[in-house]
Amino acid sequence: MKSLAIFPGSFDPITNGHLDIIARGLSVFRGVRIAILVNPDKRPLFTVEERVDIIRLTYRGNPRVQVDTFSGLLVDYAERVGASVIVRGLRAISDFEYEFQMALMNRRLNPRIETVFMMPAESYSYLSSRLVKEVFQLGGSVRDLVPPVVERRLREKYGPVPAQPVGRRRSRR
Ligand code: ADP
Repeated sequence: MKSLAIFPGSFDPITNGHLDIIARGLSVFRGVRIAILVNPDKRPLFTVEERVDIIRLTYRGNPRVQVDTFSGLLVDYAERVGASVIVRGLRAISDFEYEFQMALMNRRLNPRIETVFMMPAESYSYLSSRLVKEVFQLGGSVRDLVPPVVERRLREKYGPVPAQPVGRRRSRR
Protein backbone atom coordinates (compact mmCIF):
# COMPACT_ATOMS: atom_id res chain seq x y z
CA MET A 1 0.00 0.00 0.00
CA LYS A 2 3.02 2.28 -0.29
CA SER A 3 2.60 3.52 -3.81
CA LEU A 4 0.54 6.39 -5.04
CA ALA A 5 -1.19 5.68 -8.36
CA ILE A 6 -2.31 8.14 -10.95
CA PHE A 7 -5.36 7.44 -13.06
CA PRO A 8 -5.09 9.59 -16.18
CA GLY A 9 -7.82 10.24 -18.72
CA SER A 10 -10.39 12.62 -20.11
CA PHE A 11 -13.24 11.82 -17.66
CA ASP A 12 -15.72 13.67 -19.89
CA PRO A 13 -17.66 12.79 -17.76
CA ILE A 14 -16.56 10.33 -15.08
CA THR A 15 -18.66 7.12 -15.19
CA ASN A 16 -19.28 4.20 -12.87
CA GLY A 17 -16.71 2.28 -14.92
CA HIS A 18 -14.08 4.81 -13.83
CA LEU A 19 -15.36 4.59 -10.24
CA ASP A 20 -15.00 0.81 -10.38
CA ILE A 21 -11.35 1.10 -11.44
CA ILE A 22 -10.66 3.73 -8.76
CA ALA A 23 -12.16 1.45 -6.07
CA ARG A 24 -9.95 -1.39 -7.27
CA GLY A 25 -6.96 0.95 -7.25
CA LEU A 26 -7.70 1.94 -3.66
CA SER A 27 -7.59 -1.70 -2.61
CA VAL A 28 -4.00 -1.92 -3.82
CA PHE A 29 -2.48 1.56 -3.59
CA ARG A 30 -2.09 4.19 -0.88
CA GLY A 31 -4.11 6.64 -2.90
CA VAL A 32 -5.40 7.32 -6.39
CA ARG A 33 -4.82 10.67 -8.02
CA ILE A 34 -7.19 11.25 -10.92
CA ALA A 35 -5.32 13.27 -13.53
CA ILE A 36 -7.41 14.98 -16.19
CA LEU A 37 -5.51 15.54 -19.40
CA VAL A 38 -5.84 19.07 -20.69
CA ASN A 39 -6.00 18.55 -24.43
CA PRO A 40 -6.63 21.67 -26.52
CA ASP A 41 -7.29 19.52 -29.62
CA LYS A 42 -10.35 17.84 -28.13
CA ARG A 43 -13.75 19.49 -27.84
CA PRO A 44 -15.10 18.11 -24.57
CA LEU A 45 -18.67 18.42 -23.31
CA PHE A 46 -17.55 19.47 -19.83
CA THR A 47 -14.77 22.00 -19.31
CA VAL A 48 -11.74 20.88 -17.32
CA GLU A 49 -12.99 22.94 -14.36
CA GLU A 50 -16.41 21.28 -14.53
CA ARG A 51 -14.83 17.83 -14.65
CA VAL A 52 -12.63 18.62 -11.64
CA ASP A 53 -15.67 19.89 -9.76
CA ILE A 54 -17.74 16.79 -10.58
CA ILE A 55 -14.96 14.48 -9.39
CA ARG A 56 -14.40 16.52 -6.20
CA LEU A 57 -18.10 16.21 -5.37
CA THR A 58 -18.09 12.50 -6.16
CA TYR A 59 -15.18 11.83 -3.78
CA ARG A 60 -15.98 14.43 -1.16
CA GLY A 61 -14.81 13.12 2.21
CA ASN A 62 -12.42 10.55 0.78
CA PRO A 63 -8.88 11.88 1.24
CA ARG A 64 -7.38 8.89 -0.61
CA VAL A 65 -8.79 10.12 -3.91
CA GLN A 66 -7.47 13.36 -5.32
CA VAL A 67 -8.10 15.12 -8.59
CA ASP A 68 -5.79 17.25 -10.64
CA THR A 69 -5.15 18.32 -14.24
CA PHE A 70 -2.05 17.92 -16.33
CA SER A 71 -0.65 18.61 -19.76
CA GLY A 72 2.55 17.39 -21.32
CA LEU A 73 4.09 13.99 -20.73
CA LEU A 74 2.24 11.78 -18.28
CA VAL A 75 5.43 10.22 -16.89
CA ASP A 76 6.82 13.68 -16.10
CA TYR A 77 3.63 14.52 -14.27
CA ALA A 78 3.78 11.22 -12.35
CA GLU A 79 7.36 11.89 -11.30
CA ARG A 80 6.48 15.42 -10.23
CA VAL A 81 3.68 14.30 -7.90
CA GLY A 82 5.61 11.31 -6.53
CA ALA A 83 3.49 8.59 -8.14
CA SER A 84 5.19 5.37 -9.20
CA VAL A 85 2.19 3.71 -10.83
CA ILE A 86 -0.13 4.59 -13.70
CA VAL A 87 -3.49 2.82 -13.51
CA ARG A 88 -5.51 2.24 -16.64
CA GLY A 89 -8.75 0.37 -17.15
CA LEU A 90 -9.01 -2.43 -19.69
CA ARG A 91 -12.52 -3.07 -20.87
CA ALA A 92 -12.07 -5.29 -23.89
CA ILE A 93 -9.58 -6.40 -26.46
CA SER A 94 -10.36 -3.20 -28.36
CA ASP A 95 -8.67 -1.20 -25.58
CA PHE A 96 -5.62 -3.40 -25.58
CA GLU A 97 -3.58 -2.34 -28.59
CA TYR A 98 -3.57 1.36 -27.82
CA GLU A 99 -2.99 0.80 -24.11
CA PHE A 100 -0.14 -1.61 -24.81
CA GLN A 101 1.60 0.94 -27.04
CA MET A 102 1.14 3.70 -24.49
CA ALA A 103 2.41 1.57 -21.60
CA LEU A 104 5.54 0.56 -23.48
CA MET A 105 6.21 4.11 -24.64
CA ASN A 106 5.80 5.41 -21.11
CA ARG A 107 8.16 2.73 -19.83
CA ARG A 108 10.72 3.79 -22.40
CA LEU A 109 10.33 7.42 -21.33
CA ASN A 110 10.59 6.58 -17.64
CA PRO A 111 11.31 2.98 -16.56
CA ARG A 112 10.69 3.79 -12.89
CA ILE A 113 6.98 4.22 -13.50
CA GLU A 114 4.94 1.05 -13.85
CA THR A 115 1.61 0.82 -15.69
CA VAL A 116 -1.00 -1.41 -14.06
CA PHE A 117 -4.16 -2.50 -15.87
CA MET A 118 -7.34 -3.26 -14.03
CA MET A 119 -10.49 -4.90 -15.33
CA PRO A 120 -13.86 -3.45 -14.32
CA ALA A 121 -16.89 -5.47 -13.31
CA GLU A 122 -18.38 -7.10 -16.39
CA SER A 123 -21.40 -4.82 -16.22
CA TYR A 124 -19.16 -1.83 -16.96
CA SER A 125 -17.15 -3.44 -19.71
CA TYR A 126 -19.24 -1.78 -22.43
CA LEU A 127 -19.45 1.60 -20.72
CA SER A 128 -17.67 4.71 -21.99
CA SER A 129 -18.05 8.46 -21.46
CA ARG A 130 -18.89 8.83 -25.14
CA LEU A 131 -21.73 6.31 -24.93
CA VAL A 132 -23.14 7.95 -21.79
CA LYS A 133 -23.32 11.30 -23.60
CA GLU A 134 -24.96 9.76 -26.67
CA VAL A 135 -27.52 7.77 -24.69
CA PHE A 136 -28.43 10.76 -22.53
CA GLN A 137 -28.78 13.05 -25.52
CA LEU A 138 -31.12 10.57 -27.17
CA GLY A 139 -33.30 10.40 -24.09
CA GLY A 140 -32.07 7.15 -22.56
CA SER A 141 -31.52 6.67 -18.86
CA VAL A 142 -27.95 6.77 -17.58
CA ARG A 143 -29.00 6.31 -13.95
CA ASP A 144 -26.90 3.30 -13.05
CA LEU A 145 -24.05 4.25 -15.33
CA VAL A 146 -22.83 7.48 -13.76
CA PRO A 147 -22.74 9.00 -10.26
CA PRO A 148 -25.84 11.13 -9.44
CA VAL A 149 -23.92 14.41 -9.78
CA VAL A 150 -23.06 13.56 -13.41
CA GLU A 151 -26.67 12.84 -14.24
CA ARG A 152 -27.62 16.23 -12.76
CA ARG A 153 -24.89 18.03 -14.68
CA LEU A 154 -25.92 16.32 -17.94
CA ARG A 155 -29.44 17.53 -17.37
CA GLU A 156 -28.16 21.05 -16.78
CA LYS A 157 -26.11 20.93 -20.00
CA TYR A 158 -28.68 19.43 -22.28
CA GLY A 159 -31.85 20.50 -20.51
CA PRO A 160 -34.66 18.06 -19.72
CA VAL A 161 -34.66 15.06 -22.00
CA PRO A 162 -38.01 14.89 -23.81
CA ALA A 163 -37.70 11.38 -25.19
CA GLN A 164 -37.61 9.73 -21.78
CA PRO A 165 -40.80 7.70 -21.22
CA VAL A 166 -43.22 9.21 -18.72
CA GLY A 167 -43.23 7.32 -15.44
CA ARG A 168 -39.65 6.18 -15.69
CA ARG A 169 -38.24 9.30 -14.12
CA ARG A 170 -37.35 9.16 -10.49
CA SER A 171 -36.83 12.13 -8.22
CA ARG A 172 -33.44 13.75 -7.91
CA ARG A 173 -31.18 12.20 -5.27
P1 ADP B 1 -8.93 8.41 -22.32
O1 ADP B 1 -9.23 9.51 -23.29
O2 ADP B 1 -7.58 8.47 -21.69
O3 ADP B 1 -9.29 7.02 -22.78
P2 ADP B 1 -11.16 8.09 -20.54
O4 ADP B 1 -11.69 9.04 -19.53
O5 ADP B 1 -12.09 7.64 -21.60
O6 ADP B 1 -9.88 8.78 -21.10
O7 ADP B 1 -10.58 6.81 -19.80
C1 ADP B 1 -9.64 6.90 -18.79
C2 ADP B 1 -9.27 5.50 -18.34
O8 ADP B 1 -10.43 4.87 -17.81
C3 ADP B 1 -8.77 4.59 -19.45
O9 ADP B 1 -7.81 3.72 -18.92
C4 ADP B 1 -9.99 3.79 -19.83
O10 ADP B 1 -9.66 2.54 -20.37
C5 ADP B 1 -10.64 3.65 -18.47
N1 ADP B 1 -12.07 3.43 -18.59
C6 ADP B 1 -12.99 4.19 -19.22
N2 ADP B 1 -14.22 3.64 -19.11
C7 ADP B 1 -14.06 2.50 -18.40
C8 ADP B 1 -14.94 1.45 -17.98
N3 ADP B 1 -16.22 1.44 -18.28
N4 ADP B 1 -14.41 0.43 -17.28
C9 ADP B 1 -13.10 0.40 -17.01
N5 ADP B 1 -12.21 1.32 -17.38
C10 ADP B 1 -12.68 2.36 -18.07
